[in-house]
Amino acid sequence: MAELMKGVHRITANANSYLLLDDKVLLFDTTIEPSAKDILAYLPKARLQPCDIQVIVLTHTHPDHTNGLHTMKAQAPRARVAAHEADADFVSKAQPNYPGPPVNGKPSPWQGVPVDDRLRDGQVYEGLRVIHCPGHTPGTIALLDEDRGLLIAGDTLRTEGGVGPMWDQYNIDPKQHREGIRKLARFAFDALVCGHGEPILQGAGEQVRQLARTL
Ligand SMILES: [Zn+2]
Ligand SMILES: [Zn+2]
Repeated sequence: MAELMKGVHRITANANSYLLLDDKVLLFDTTIEPSAKDILAYLPKARLQPCDIQVIVLTHTHPDHTNGLHTMKAQAPRARVAAHEADADFVSKAQPNYPGPPVNGKPSPWQGVPVDDRLRDGQVYEGLRVIHCPGHTPGTIALLDEDRGLLIAGDTLRTEGGVGPMWDQYNIDPKQHREGIRKLARFAFDALVCGHGEPILQGAGEQVRQLARTL
């Protein structure tokens, strides 16, 4: 079991995925296609079936966070799919080729999945505050669970190799990405989970504030 705190599960695949279990079951990110089976394999450990997932939130359009979506939607067809409005067209393939790294406009065989809920900065979605931090991709978001003091950071930053910005070869706008980290530093949270690296379960807000001062 990788239950980090009550109702918060980490699934270690390619990029990390997370489950939030409250009134509804929410899945954050769907990893790469072959690793989606790791999400499916984890669900029984949380006493869940795929059809229990009601919402799939994509923190951004990168393939290591979205490509397992086909597999997950096939198993959980009623789950709503949510992404920031600036990345939603890449997820759904309304705009076929994402223009930034790591793919830089190369066609992908991935067919896309419709996005049901297009998120905006500052809105509260399923009880979570949406924090838009463009720069990694145009529509990269973090989600703040104010009740738990938990930031679900996606790729707004990383903890792999220490708390820091994402590696710039993957950022569409490195300067804007750092502005996003300074924005995160203004919110109150104690725990943090992200796409790449280990969770920080205490003192995460202070670590992000320290990082923001160095950028
Ligand atoms: Zn990414
Ligand atoms: Zn990633």
